[in-house]
Amino acid sequence: MRLDKFLANMGFGTRKEVKKLLKTGAVRVNEEIVKDAKLHIDVEQDVVIVNGEEIEYKEFIYLMMNKPKGVISATEDSKDETVVDLLELDDARYDPFPVGRLDKDTEGFVLLTNNGKLAHELLSPKKHVPKTYYALISGVVTEEDVLKFKQGVTLDDGYETKPGNLVILKSGETSEIELTITEGKFHQVKRMFIAVGKKVTYLKRLTIGPLELDPSLELGEYRELTDEEVEKLV
Ligand code: URA
Repeated sequence: MRLDKFLANMGFGTRKEVKKLLKTGAVRVNEEIVKDAKLHIDVEQDVVIVNGEEIEYKEFIYLMMNKPKGVISATEDSKDETVVDLLELDDARYDPFPVGRLDKDTEGFVLLTNNGKLAHELLSPKKHVPKTYYALISGVVTEEDVLKFKQGVTLDDGYETKPGNLVILKSGETSEIELTITEGKFHQVKRMFIAVGKKVTYLKRLTIGPLELDPSLELGEYRELTDEEVEKLV
């Protein structure tokens, strides 16, 4: 890869800005100051240092975010803040996008990546990637609901859902549940409860496939996936 492309990809500005940076002598490749933007480097082997800091090349970024209410799972929006707006510049420069959507009023696990192939696979209906949600429900959730969800319920548009695994954590006027589903129809969890005459009043996604939301992430915080987590996903 050309040195100017490498540096631009790694967030050092446009090609023009990178050229200027190179002229200052701030960039070393394998210990040598390099001013030639056209130099080809091996991104795996060559050691690139900018202003004393080694720049490690990575093609893909994988971020786990705890989305707060009021934030949209999109890259940009004309009126609301998006999950991408919450990223620091260093991470945003990889152009990650959210894999799938959570409603504006839903909290919890959003995965962001620039790995389009992985995103496609995770979203493919054929893959049946399970996702677990925690929810508060207005109304008494019963064992009958558990059974109905296991069999699949009919949504307002006539769609028959795949089986969902409903676990009652607390049943009462306000019930507390966890629900695992393997598909992602629009407002699916909320509509599944409407199908059994109940209302979701709070919703949070806890897991995506093999990954669990890191409980140490406050709302609006995010972190990179560890290597092990990425391996579980790909
Ligand atoms: N189901 C919903 O109803 N909303 C979400 O945000 C996610 C799943």
